[in-house]
Amino acid sequence: MIPVASETAAKAAPVKQTPVEQAHAALRGVTCVYHSQGRSLHALGPVDLSLARGEFFSVVGPSGCGKSTLLDILAGLNPPQTGTAHFEGKSILGVPDGVGVVFQEDASFPWLNVHDNVAFGLRRAGVDPTEIKRRVDYAIGFMGLKDFAASYPAQLSGGMRQRVCIARTLVLQPRLILLDEPFGALDQQTRLIMGDELLRLWRETSATILLITHALDEAAMLSDRVGVMSTRPGTFIDIIETGWDRNRDSRVVSKPHFGDITARLWEKLRVEALKMMSTREL
Ligand code: ADP
Ligand code: MG
Repeated sequence: MIPVASETAAKAAPVKQTPVEQAHAALRGVTCVYHSQGRSLHALGPVDLSLARGEFFSVVGPSGCGKSTLLDILAGLNPPQTGTAHFEGKSILGVPDGVGVVFQEDASFPWLNVHDNVAFGLRRAGVDPTEIKRRVDYAIGFMGLKDFAASYPAQLSGGMRQRVCIARTLVLQPRLILLDEPFGALDQQTRLIMGDELLRLWRETSATILLITHALDEAAMLSDRVGVMSTRPGTFIDIIETGWDRNRDSRVVSKPHFGDITARLWEKLRVEALKMMSTREL
């Protein structure tokens, strides 16, 4: 039996949230409406979310429901139209110090080798060269890139290039790591391995992680909690606690409980995906 924070799938039923003051990052009543070519599009919310310090939280939801919009708001890349967004008790205004973002797109710089890609952000921030060397060597070693420090992205596999992007975030020593479908372009086996890498990084850094993924198995395997979003404008219709041990890895996929979690996620998402199809938005 899976413990769930909310038993109701009704859109209006609020999922219970930790108070803003106790949360590491929090959204309250956040909405986002895009205006383009004279039309308004209500993309997100109102949405509430509380991330506990050090938790691994994943978000799943139908395509176009506002997942990336939610992540951009936490990253300070996109201000909410209404509601509030907080990180470590402060309002999010611009990219907050201590927040790192990893995107699906291969965001490595093709003209820089792995070492210089990883050092890029620190150099730009004017960090002391000795400190840069220390942090870059650590991140490159941690992500298994030591033998590739002098290689260029074009010489690496997709999985290795995404490791470079994670290392680039890791050197910034983020306390909150936001990942937007980071493994979406990778094959299934590489994704499972990258999931293990991400769990190792999460344990090592004690960072809070928010992962957006379209892969239900990824969400079920990696997370402490999985938030399921409705069709656009996205809100949380359910939050499922997985109950995994902190020392978990990809082998949890063989446990019966893993099947229970993915079944529950699909039960919720299927309804939303069908709604989406009926509006021809897939
Ligand atoms: P998801 O990540 O869940 O697929 P997004 O947050 O990217 O969804 O987008 C939510 C909705 O907002 C989609 O319908 C998308 O087309 C629209 N959208 C996203 N960004 C913009 C933008 N800059 N201008 C106009 N519409 C946008
Ligand atoms: Mg997206």
